[in-house]
Amino acid sequence: MDDLYEILGVKKDASDDEIKKAYRKIALKHHPDKGGSKEDEETFKKATAAYEVLGDKQKRQQYDQFGSAGFGGQGAGPGGFDFSNMNFNFGGQAGGFGDIFDSFFGGQAGARAKKGPQRGNDIEIVLSVNFEEAVFGTSKDVEVSRYETCSHCSGNGAEPGSEIKECTDCSGTGQQVKMQQTILGAIQTAVTCKTCSGRGKKAEKDCKTCSGEGREVKPNKIKVKVPEGINDKAVLRLKDQGEAGSQGGPYGDLFVHISVEPSKEFERVGDDIYTKQTIHVLQAILGDEIEVKTIHGNVKLKIPAGTESHKVFKITGKGVQKVGGSGKGDHKVKIVLEMPKKLSKAEKKHYAELAKEAKLDIDLPKGLFG
Ligand SMILES: [Zn+2]
Ligand SMILES: [Zn+2]
Repeated sequence: MDDLYEILGVKKDASDDEIKKAYRKIALKHHPDKGGSKEDEETFKKATAAYEVLGDKQKRQQYDQFGSAGFGGQGAGPGGFDFSNMNFNFGGQAGGFGDIFDSFFGGQAGARAKKGPQRGNDIEIVLSVNFEEAVFGTSKDVEVSRYETCSHCSGNGAEPGSEIKECTDCSGTGQQVKMQQTILGAIQTAVTCKTCSGRGKKAEKDCKTCSGEGREVKPNKIKVKVPEGINDKAVLRLKDQGEAGSQGGPYGDLFVHISVEPSKEFERVGDDIYTKQTIHVLQAILGDEIEVKTIHGNVKLKIPAGTESHKVFKITGKGVQKVGGSGKGDHKVKIVLEMPKKLSKAEKKHYAELAKEAKLDIDLPKGLFG
């Protein structure tokens, strides 16, 4: 089946504006009101269906991520998109794409099909964790102000004891039909019924708490479990922790964007941890055993005699737990040699003797051996 981007003739990374322009061009050329062929109508339908998805930020993201499978079209084949699911109507009744014409012709509010319960919005938040919390995992309470199902009416929008009846202003259709003059001729559009907000039903008495919306804004504490080894800029998705839908619709999701604060001692690259450690030049010359601080505690490391500056030693398995995998990364320590600066007279003597031993022709300060 067709790719939605191909239908509109745009690239996958097209801007919202490019998508809108591309659709507009196709719509103007193939609009059924221009009396074109059956193919014109088909082209127009497909473009409109594609625009319904790609013209909506959230739907587009969903499509990019899951393909058309994310839209649950019953007749859609694998990788396909179900056009039969779209609501088209020309000339007669109100169509299902009022929002698009709205944005083109600056017309009335959208003529959507009757509004049933709607899924709540997703919420996106940023959660800061420090370096150790990211490495070992943590659990944090975040406070999110969000729509929740109204506790007074349990989400149906009616004051308890009041009956829910068909809206008399729209006879239960949720829409009121209007004629509109456009550059393509007269288009019949429908606007959402103001009385029932497009639901087609109305309570005799709206719920006092939520004014019939079925949900209310409440501050909410949510526990976010940050898994061990999480990376900076990772995104956690907490299903159904977003906003409550209207009229008892399902909850949206909560997306938690992780921001990891850097550490002063440790640097992380993938699952490996890097540190720097300074040792005395004599330790490097003679060899030694030193203690290296890792995120899992101190570890003994053998420095072989003759170690050069900036040599990196690997301590296996002392890095970060691999997310979704087994095992850990490594700790890598870079050895930096420190030159002794203020030497005592005795020390100078020893070094000078070493220089002689090494047959180095050094211009020694006078009086060192006198
Ligand atoms: Zn309520
Ligand atoms: Zn109504």
